Amino acid sequence: MRTVLITGASSGIGAACALELAKDKNYRLLLCARRVERLEELKSKIKDLNPACEVHSFKLDVRNADEVETTLSNLPQEWKNIDVLINNAGLSQGLDPIQTGDIGDWDRMIDTNVKGLLYVTRFVVPMMEDSKQAHIINIGSIAGKEVYPNGNVYCATKHAVDALNKAMRIDLLAKGIKVTAINPGMVETEFSEVRFHGDSNRAKSVYEGVTPLSGQDIAEIIVFALNRPAHVNINDLLVMPTVQA
Ligand code: NDP
Repeated sequence: MRTVLITGASSGIGAACALELAKDKNYRLLLCARRVERLEELKSKIKDLNPACEVHSFKLDVRNADEVETTLSNLPQEWKNIDVLINNAGLSQGLDPIQTGDIGDWDRMIDTNVKGLLYVTRFVVPMMEDSKQAHIINIGSIAGKEVYPNGNVYCATKHAVDALNKAMRIDLLAKGIKVTAINPGMVETEFSEVRFHGDSNRAKSVYEGVTPLSGQDIAEIIVFALNRPAHVNINDLLVMPTVQA
């Protein structure tokens, strides 16, 4: 039985991943995000899907290092050993050229996508000491491989995730912790709405004329990566909608 911690489990890829893992009797789930009411809804969906799946959820803002440390160290005793960390919490905000970009948007992206991922990893790795099947999945992006117009800061944060994925692989090799980057192209989630600060019309227009990936598509790939034999590590995977260049 492996205990999985998913950050940003309240929607999109994180929630889909929780539901996919809940179908597998080998996983028990630690779910966190800021919107706890969403986590409660997700827990009841998981109960319907597989009443035997053990789930513990809690509020966590990954941007706050003290909160990350305290919350993780205060987990109930039976949840203190973690096997799998899915670093999924993240966002894009704004789509503006650098000379007019909003500094608040920049801070939120850097604090969440880069510093948040670092804080959670910093405090979870010591909780993996007893694991025989430890694995960290970092959700990067095509934006961590390429740069697109006005994507400046979001792309920079996902390039940082790409670098950190490589760095973790080196740092954690001797501990036997697998490290995998899953880099999606366009996925239809709340991501676009967050990017455009709640402007749902603008958010929807992003998906016009294309068939994007779903959270479920990415969740299935994450579970595939987690279920490889001990000697196999998927290091870095780019997953694109067929129609996206
Ligand atoms: P969603 O907006 O649906 O989900 C984002 C999740 O991150 C939410 O659960 C949100 O929870 C959580 N989150 C955001 N900020 C924080 C924070 N400060 N602390 C804790 N949790 C936080 O988008 P996706 O599911 O699409 O995004 C998941 C990941 O996938 C992100 O890293 C994103 O960059 C990446 N990605 C998405 C793509 C896409 O096209 N959708 C493409 C490539 C990568 P809450 O608000 O409740 O805290």
